[in-house]
Amino acid sequence: MSSANTPWIERDLKHVWHPCTQMKDHEGQIPLIPVRRGAGAWLEDYDGRRYLDAVSSWWVNLFGHAHPKINAAVREQLERLEQVILAGFTHEPVIALSEELTRRAPPGLTRCFYADNGSSAIEVAVKMSFHYWRNLGRTGKRRFITLANSYHGETLGALAVGNVELYKEIYQPLLMDVVTVPSPDCYGQPRASWAAHSRAQFRFMEEALERHAHESAAVILEPLVQCAGGMRMYDPEYLRLLREACDRHQVHLIADEIAVGFGRTGTLFACEQATIRPDFMCLSKGLTAGYLPLSTVITTEEVYRAFYDEYEKLNAFLHSHSFTGNPLACAAARACLALFDEEDVLTANRARAAHLGARARELADLPHVAEVRQTGMIVAVEMVRDKAQRTPYPFAERRGLTVYRHALTRGVVLRPIGNVVYFMPPYVVTPEEIDLMVDVAREGIERATCD
Ligand SMILES: *Cc1c(COP(=O)(O)O)cnc(C)c1O
Repeated sequence: MSSANTPWIERDLKHVWHPCTQMKDHEGQIPLIPVRRGAGAWLEDYDGRRYLDAVSSWWVNLFGHAHPKINAAVREQLERLEQVILAGFTHEPVIALSEELTRRAPPGLTRCFYADNGSSAIEVAVKMSFHYWRNLGRTGKRRFITLANSYHGETLGALAVGNVELYKEIYQPLLMDVVTVPSPDCYGQPRASWAAHSRAQFRFMEEALERHAHESAAVILEPLVQCAGGMRMYDPEYLRLLREACDRHQVHLIADEIAVGFGRTGTLFACEQATIRPDFMCLSKGLTAGYLPLSTVITTEEVYRAFYDEYEKLNAFLHSHSFTGNPLACAAARACLALFDEEDVLTANRARAAHLGARARELADLPHVAEVRQTGMIVAVEMVRDKAQRTPYPFAERRGLTVYRHALTRGVVLRPIGNVVYFMPPYVVTPEEIDLMVDVAREGIERATCD
């Protein structure tokens, strides 16, 4: 069968090394899909086949592909200034974006430091927290407290404070030592007991703080949903308890909202659901509606002040990336925030999330589905070998891959994490598209679990 995709695939496989991929898989069982264009929630390959982007192009896309207003904003900025050094110089997009972000962030977060991807934002927050305590003379505070099953990115510092074994284990000899605490993850708990379970799990954090606060700079976590860890979810109660305990123990709280920020959990930022203000909030992915690489760490006056001094004291935060605060990316981010206002996205998403949740919960009846869980616009379906015992399928069976491949044949991009099939669609998805996503997931799960 001749396909217009083939020449692109052949050329690609000669020189492109793809992320998070065993390249040998592309010889046979996993097709590589060259994308010619995108529009709304859909991608299109060179044969004209269309795929519903149910994973928002790795959780970055918010308003669909090639959105006219974001396109126009980036195009307009392109005509004026594509890039400029942000040390000693500034520009309108970064100034206005900083004003708009601090206005929407939890009150008290007033200072934006920019980088160009999520992992770099984590590095910034980790270094800044350590450096803050050092500037105060507390040089012993150099460790980080992190949750089991957490994910904060792939660079060495971010990998060290994360805890997904698959990504981390091999590099362990290169990584700094952290304190890891059991997760508040509510897998297997009825929805009504999430708060109680998360509260009960907090005792491990309290113990860790009692033991390690004197040598710890910060606790870092993903508010409400551990996304890369298999969309495991917990109750805002945990964040409330953590904020209080961090204050009591004089340890910073770093909220990694890189995946959950910008409406994914139902509120603009997940921290809002616990009405807490972290000391550092890391944002990326949806920050530019998935258009361009950009990240920011928003922090407090108190942190900012600890670095503000005469140059010779060498207290400044001497960290930079070449593309820090890129004007095109900032223009996309401003257009993205404008859309949240103009279209009352969070309200509209409540209806979308309700429909998605209702349809997805039907999958809970399948014999190899242990749980369907939801936080806002994130819904996850956990496949297991044994439903009563919640025995997982061994990773080597690659059950999720069967779902992935089936979904592609039906024109939907579902990209399970191990045994977890999830939906994280862009906010332009229609009820009919949600139905398609869920129907295809059902077929895929049935195929993947039929033996
Ligand atoms: C994706 C992600 C990161 C890393 O961001 P990159 O841009 O991929 O480096 C960090 N934390 C969380 C929670 C993420 O989902």
